[in-house]
Amino acid sequence: MLETPEQIQHIPWRSITRKRFFVAFFVVLGLTILISVYTPLYYFGSYQQIFQVSFRQKSENRTKMSYWEQCELPIYDFYNDEIIPYVNPNVNPLSRCNASLKPLTTLINGSWGLKDKKLKLECRTRCHWRESERRNKIGNWSYQPGPVDCEVLEAVCAENNTDVYGYLHTQILPTPPRKPKVETKNLKQYDVTVILVDSLAYSQARRSLPRTISYMTNHMDAVLFPYVNKVGDNSRPNGVALWFGKLLQKIDRSLFDEESIMADWTHNYMCHVFKDNETSLFHEFQKYGYKTLLAEDWAEGTLNWPNCKGFNKPPFDHYMRPFQNALERKNHGLDVTKRHLKGQMCREHHHTMLDYLGQFLDAYPDQKKFSWVWAINLGHDTENGIAHSDNDFYNFMVKHRQQLDNSFVVFVGDHGLRFGGVRKTFVGALDVNNPFLAISIPKELRKTTKILDHMKENAKKLQTHFDTRSAILDILKFQSASNFTDTKPLEIPGERGYSYLREQPSIIRNCKNTPIPYQYCICQFNKTTVSTDNKVALSIGEHIANSVNEQLKEGNFAEDCIEMKVDRILSLLKYDQSMNGSDVYSVVAEMKKPSQADFKANVKVLPTGKIKVLGMVERANSYKRTADCIASEHHRPYCYCKNQQSATTMKST
Ligand SMILES: [Zn+2]
Repeated sequence: MLETPEQIQHIPWRSITRKRFFVAFFVVLGLTILISVYTPLYYFGSYQQIFQVSFRQKSENRTKMSYWEQCELPIYDFYNDEIIPYVNPNVNPLSRCNASLKPLTTLINGSWGLKDKKLKLECRTRCHWRESERRNKIGNWSYQPGPVDCEVLEAVCAENNTDVYGYLHTQILPTPPRKPKVETKNLKQYDVTVILVDSLAYSQARRSLPRTISYMTNHMDAVLFPYVNKVGDNSRPNGVALWFGKLLQKIDRSLFDEESIMADWTHNYMCHVFKDNETSLFHEFQKYGYKTLLAEDWAEGTLNWPNCKGFNKPPFDHYMRPFQNALERKNHGLDVTKRHLKGQMCREHHHTMLDYLGQFLDAYPDQKKFSWVWAINLGHDTENGIAHSDNDFYNFMVKHRQQLDNSFVVFVGDHGLRFGGVRKTFVGALDVNNPFLAISIPKELRKTTKILDHMKENAKKLQTHFDTRSAILDILKFQSASNFTDTKPLEIPGERGYSYLREQPSIIRNCKNTPIPYQYCICQFNKTTVSTDNKVALSIGEHIANSVNEQLKEGNFAEDCIEMKVDRILSLLKYDQSMNGSDVYSVVAEMKKPSQADFKANVKVLPTGKIKVLGMVERANSYKRTADCIASEHHRPYCYCKNQQSATTMKST
């Protein structure tokens, strides 16, 4: 039997008092409704009175919010003097590739063949299917061109019995329509296409992808969201917020003298239990009859690294993982195949994923599709890795412009660049917490609905991946039932975000009311540089080192990793206002050799002189392979291995 589609739940504004986002804090101040003020210097979100005044009623009273409640959003020069030395738009890993090297083999309409029949090489192909996340089932070699029943095909050609050419082809083998598990006949369903570029920050995208952004904003009427705040350190917690709506990192509220919000999943559950029974976005879309696709250009992927289970039965109708397994794993693809994306052929990972996505869009002209591409290789390690791909994303969008006109298109980063000296600049330090987001809506909704107006309004405020997730669920379940005309704020049970395709609840959006760990907060607070040459500064550094050592001890890594000792304070900034009598500082401290680890943290010095480290301590410089003796994602940034020979091939996300 079909379930009925989920009902729209408008937020009864009284229920806001029950919300987890600390509205109580604002009740005290909530006797008036603040009108949002947006100037280049100050942005005060509006919030509403909790009692007695109706949801819509607005008061003209303006009250200046206290220092800790306001969220002054960052407005700055993307090309300021400090960041310019780090920006090189000419970096192109393909600059030495040979454009005349075209694939010798083809995969067209389900059959493989040779580009040139007179070719003197001996070519063969074999199929790669997914057996598990980390293993492919590999077919036998076929020397006869003809039909193949797999989506990932390895092609190799030999000259005098030496393999001289290797290539991985992809195709989409369409499957029969999926019967929805809910009644969908009254829903207006659109495709949703997500392109996530790992480590793509807002300002970095503006520097690196001018043509793609200009095409999206101009031709596709996309709205840019400059103020998205990441909700976790690296890919996984941000990906899990988007895909599952779950919090992986504790939100420490000790700055505000409030209880912390604990993570939804323990590391153990996240890593060692298959996620098949959790409701991911992919499950949700399948339930509504969509075909789903996931392509990640890394065999470990968002859910698997470094030793986690991911899915047993993945909720993806089309999953590119066998491609990455063939490319990266032992005893999978041949060496000649593994080399084919190394630069000579002018082909990179993101090309292969955009090809696969394009094949998906072409394969199902009449069915609804939800697709997600996660490109990790371009920008993971450098500020300058993404610029050369601008034309590739542009070309993809132009090539598929008709299909994308009927789709919501979400172009997004998970977090910003986490490594390198650029993080020491103002822009780089902001970028790491401020992922890019641009969204275009289907062409027929641009003029006939108010969605673009709402998005433009909401884009002036702080947003998170939880809000993006809610917006995607809104497209799937709620707006689809009202022909995308719903404008009232929406509360989705169990969700931490609010769809920005409509009004959002008028609670002020700051890092206290939204699920953002404070150490990542992009709201700007006036701070003053203070001397590091005193006892308090050194004591703060010692507390940060202790906090790191505690983490290592708790994780049982004290045997493997050296004990951190503070060497000096690199920067000490004092917040201009105290919090309930405590001074608050933002600190970067360098540890003694051999680690020379730089750690960044916020600390509070209580009126009694007691020092408290707030929230998570962040690693602020690269640790490369110095933590390779341990696998725990959480602890690696804190670890410098006692034995530096024990390197394995770990990589961080
Ligand atoms: Zn990432």
